[in-house]
Amino acid sequence: MTEGAQGGATDAWAKRDTAVVWHGFTQMSSYLEDAPVIVERAEGHELIDVDGNRYLDAISSLWVNTLGHRVPELDEALRRQLELVSHSTMLGNGNRVVVEFAEALAAVVPVDRPHMVFASDGAAAVEQALRIAFQFWTNRGVTGRNSFLAFGGAYHGDTVGALSVGAGGFGTDVFDPLRFPVLRAPSFDDPSCLDVAAAMVADHAHEVAAVVVEPLVQGAAGMRMAGPQGFPELAAACRRHDVLLICDEVATGFGRTGTLFASEQCGLRPDVLCLGKGITGGYLPLSATVVAGHVFDAFLGPDPSPRTLHHGHSYGGNALAAAVALRHLQLLAERDVLANVRARSTQLERLLWDQVAPLPAVAEVRVKGLMAGIDLESPKPSLRWGRRVCAEAVRRGVLLRPLGDVVVLMPPLTVTAEEVERIVEVLAAAIAEVTAP
Ligand SMILES: *Cc1c(COP(=O)(O)O)cnc(C)c1O
Repeated sequence: MTEGAQGGATDAWAKRDTAVVWHGFTQMSSYLEDAPVIVERAEGHELIDVDGNRYLDAISSLWVNTLGHRVPELDEALRRQLELVSHSTMLGNGNRVVVEFAEALAAVVPVDRPHMVFASDGAAAVEQALRIAFQFWTNRGVTGRNSFLAFGGAYHGDTVGALSVGAGGFGTDVFDPLRFPVLRAPSFDDPSCLDVAAAMVADHAHEVAAVVVEPLVQGAAGMRMAGPQGFPELAAACRRHDVLLICDEVATGFGRTGTLFASEQCGLRPDVLCLGKGITGGYLPLSATVVAGHVFDAFLGPDPSPRTLHHGHSYGGNALAAAVALRHLQLLAERDVLANVRARSTQLERLLWDQVAPLPAVAEVRVKGLMAGIDLESPKPSLRWGRRVCAEAVRRGVLLRPLGDVVVLMPPLTVTAEEVERIVEVLAAAIAEVTAP
């Protein structure tokens, strides 16, 4: 691999890129200096750039990929659906493969009598959940349920509603004047956060439409984790005080934490479950708001009726995405992917403790399933340790992207033992290199 810039073709493509593409959460004035990888194709767990350099995709293309790239069975499912139909509207009409996928998903989600509202992004799944929770109460003639209870450190996506239940950060504070107010429980850093949230539910039930929580892991907060034991108490408080529980499993869903859904480990059966990211194995944009039957029922009535769910997206329930998602769900079971997640998780944790935790620059290591956060104890943020460690790892052929000074590891669910070894070796070397006194 070449030093610094990855090669001639990359430079040229990166220049064409900056001329017309605006990358989110990226300062475009320094985009070129940060040596972006310009991907052309992929094989298995590796991305291949326009110069032919290979990178192990250790962040699963920002947390969406599960079984690697170009999975023959998923490619085939997509091709077969292309021969049938790519997309038809979900508004007032149905589509065969979307029904088939919804049935398959209904059989595995920890939600009672589930109904799926499909959209394309995780943020839209959360936005739909908020709208449904709010309208649920108005449909039942209950007034004043105008607020939501969410957690410090929470991240639920970038639309204005999802941003409002999110706790901010990443420079999004600029949008504070647009956010609606939310009751805020402590972040997962506080061991009592779930107890405090349960008490807040009791105190504010009459004004709260729903509690929104990321079960087990607050991903974007930097892989902040809460043990499963605190969640049943929160769910019990919601039930006791008649407040809906929304679980945002956009990041944790589809096997990431070692079970198909993190809610299962927490003993939760949410009223609304938000899914996205891994739902199509990282192939196509699809998300789902999974709604329990008793919530769905509150929207039934005459037509026309103010009880109808007045919400929907043009591409919600895209047939190509549904075909891939259906095959993906089957493959997770056929290949016993969850067993690999658990085995590789144990290995990853052990190797991180042996090789990374002892480094002087490392403050803490957290692992749940195949989600890991490594806190770098930077003397000052302007050193950009997180960014520079990841750049160094990329130079060594492992693609990483940090959250501030937290290095995030999120390898594909089918990552091999050798690949886990390589990721940890490269990370340890990158940290040692960048943080050497
Ligand atoms: C990524 C994420 C979202 C937003 O999903 P997008 O597809 O990026 O809109 C919402 N919630 C959680 C927990 C996430 O990790």
